[in-house]
Amino acid sequence: MKTKEEIKQYKKEWHILNREKVIIRCKKWYEENKNTRVKEYKLKNREKILQQKRESYERCKETYKKYWQTPKAKHNAKIQKYKNRAILSILEHHSDKEWLELLKKNKGKCVDCKTTENIEKDHIIPLSRGGNDLISNILPRCRRCNSKKGNRTPYLYPQKNICLTYIKC
Ligand SMILES: [Zn+2]
Repeated sequence: MKTKEEIKQYKKEWHILNREKVIIRCKKWYEENKNTRVKEYKLKNREKILQQKRESYERCKETYKKYWQTPKAKHNAKIQKYKNRAILSILEHHSDKEWLELLKKNKGKCVDCKTTENIEKDHIIPLSRGGNDLISNILPRCRRCNSKKGNRTPYLYPQKNICLTYIKC
């Protein structure tokens, strides 16, 4: 018998190992289901649906206003924002091949101090600040430079294209 924690851990590991598979499955499902009957109905009756929405909004306007000022609503909105970001980061994800190509281009060196030890993926605009996980937002940095940078964005000097300082964007 496996404990709850073990099952959770197993699922987590499976998702990391099969990330590409999950993405492909998600995309396939979207392609197959984007033209369902619900969507067709919505397209045909667009004006009618909009009118219904407008009417119901007018009816409950005050209740909505009160609701959005409660701490619960604010909390829920915050969680939804994180969820949306997580979905985006799965759909817009760079492949291992792209990362290897980038490493090759930089000769396996850290972009700041040029060391070849402990190279990590570094997000130019951090994920926590709304950056994406595409290869255009990733640079190889050593662990030391990466932790020095934290969740700030490097300010690149245009002529030299090197980083001398970090800013909060
Ligand atoms: Zn470095």
